[in-house]
Amino acid sequence: MSESAGSGNFIRTIIDADLASAKNGASVVTRFPPEPNGYLHIGHAKSICLNFGLAQDYGGRCHLRFDDTNPLTEDPEYIEAIKNDVRWLGFDWGEHLYYTSDYFERLYEFAVRLIGKGKAFVCGLSADEIRDARGTLTAPGRDSPDRERSVAENLALFTRMRAGEFPDGSRTLRAKIDMASPNLNMRDPVIYRIRRTPHYRTGDAWSIYPSYDWAHGQSDFIESVTHSICTLEFEDHRPLYDWFLEQLETEPRPQQIEFARLNLGYTVMSKRLLQELVREGIVSGWDDPRMPTLAGLRRRGVTPQAIRRFCGLIGVAKADSLVDMGLLESCIRKELDADTPRVMCVHQPLRVVLQDWPEDRVDQLEAPYLQNQPETLGSRQIPFSRVLYIEREDFMEQPPKGFFRLAPGREVRLRRAYVIRCEEVIKDANGEVAELRCSYDPETLNTAPAGRKVRGTIHWVSAGHAISAEVRLYDRLFSVPIPTADKDVDYKSHLNPASLEVLRQALVEPSLASARPGERYQFERKGYYFVDPIDSQEGKLVFNRIVTLRDSWAKMKDK
Ligand code: ATP
Ligand code: MG
Repeated sequence: MSESAGSGNFIRTIIDADLASAKNGASVVTRFPPEPNGYLHIGHAKSICLNFGLAQDYGGRCHLRFDDTNPLTEDPEYIEAIKNDVRWLGFDWGEHLYYTSDYFERLYEFAVRLIGKGKAFVCGLSADEIRDARGTLTAPGRDSPDRERSVAENLALFTRMRAGEFPDGSRTLRAKIDMASPNLNMRDPVIYRIRRTPHYRTGDAWSIYPSYDWAHGQSDFIESVTHSICTLEFEDHRPLYDWFLEQLETEPRPQQIEFARLNLGYTVMSKRLLQELVREGIVSGWDDPRMPTLAGLRRRGVTPQAIRRFCGLIGVAKADSLVDMGLLESCIRKELDADTPRVMCVHQPLRVVLQDWPEDRVDQLEAPYLQNQPETLGSRQIPFSRVLYIEREDFMEQPPKGFFRLAPGREVRLRRAYVIRCEEVIKDANGEVAELRCSYDPETLNTAPAGRKVRGTIHWVSAGHAISAEVRLYDRLFSVPIPTADKDVDYKSHLNPASLEVLRQALVEPSLASARPGERYQFERKGYYFVDPIDSQEGKLVFNRIVTLRDSWAKMKDK
């Protein structure tokens, strides 16, 4: 079973039963149908993992179908980005790449058939008038004055709509169902609109475009899709989906199944809102590492395996829920833990001079990339010298209780090196700590000091050997779990002002001279980092923080 499709979910139960009764020739054909009006986000990943995962597990196939029926919002840029993201996630549609726009002619013929059966009519009401006549959940709607037009008249008008003879919005084609239906979707829904706008694929061949409801089920039928899986908001559309297929007498019929969409805390997932963040320059682009887009997660350094693991874990259910960002973060850590090299990086350097270490002595300390399995990734040498840098926050002049790192008169272990003691604190003109004068204990190289306990271990780099780097610390884009919760408050007022912190003074150990764009490292005690594939160049290292280490401090006590 694929890790990503969620085991034992209710959709599998349906498919198992369909296979047992040999429905649809006992085949499984699913589809992932994005509209090319933006980049894919992690919610789409749930749908991709589900649809492609089911096809894999049942020996079926999954189509990638661009649901491109709206010429106003779609763009070929998104087509390429979406294909790229699906491939990156690890799925392959093979030869099954489709576009709803390729079916425009057949969808039109289906509509003609519906008119011929007296089940659709050309309506002259405006969009507002249609809305007004629609009724409410408690009151029935009103019939359109054009509802009883003859088949011949409807056919003639529909032909003229196609030919572009009428202005935008002046007429629609509507299904003739029931204006008193308790389901609003069944109250003579619009199936074609006039929109004399060129389409990115069909050019100006069409002046009318099908609605989602009309295009979707019929496209599923055309592709012999067996299980058309979509999110819960389409549950009320299912009777319409079935009604169309019934009227057209098409066989075999695809079955629509709804599942709960992924909602993730501290972010927004609607493409419209993500687009707005990009357009207004609030983020640097669709691939800004703070975005929940697949492009953003990739740029941040998240692996496709981590996303698939996450999608498998959250499962597939019928009830909406909000997933904690922490779950995604723990999936990311789990995927990176086993084989990511551990190195040292000082984010905010504080100078340390070892007064009793000879001026020009440099020792090369051998250190494995993976503490517990040195044989997996091998080891590197770390130079140790008289002048070092440690993390500014690892020193406190007046340490509170429970602070086990460096303080005046106190000892700390330097990771993979010696125990040092802070002998003197040097301050600058502003009274800021500028440098620490320390001593070291030569008997403590990777061995515990005799007769005393040193509880803290900190990371460091050698001043004369370290390489400077830029480190970008990413945090949640919003400071509340559901930024859109209150309709009267702009979601952008909840942006987290600290979602990006750029550190330009960071220093990494010299083994990272060979770091290449796209590589991942664990910076000890800090987190997992990704060498930014775009902004890192020869002579400039830029690291994106993928995720912090949970509880990193507890694990590091005096090893
Ligand atoms: P958005 O609201 O972000 O614009 P959408 O549903 O309009 O999303 P589509 O391109 O139409 O985006 O979506 C393609 C497929 O992805 C659909 O089948 C849709 O149900 C699914 N999908 C979209 N968002 C989610 C989500 N958050 N969780 C699971 N599936 C999703
Ligand atoms: Mg959509």
